[in-house]
Amino acid sequence: MPCIYICGECGSENEIKPKEPIKCKDCTYRIMYKKRTDKSMNINIDIDIDIDIDIDRYRQIQSLEID
Ligand SMILES: [Zn+2]
Repeated sequence: MPCIYICGECGSENEIKPKEPIKCKDCTYRIMYKKRTDKSMNINIDIDIDIDIDIDRYRQIQSLEID
């Protein structure tokens, strides 16, 4: 099952299969945050903090664009 990653540059969601390289398909940025899809899978606390910050910023950008 592919994982959803969020681009650290443009905030775009990318579906990346396990054998594919980690790279944003929109802007080719290579730092991607793994999106947390299951709350029971809190394996790495540091990564979870990064994702929460990134999603908050992403939602702010989206809400600004809608308004
Ligand atoms: Zn990107």
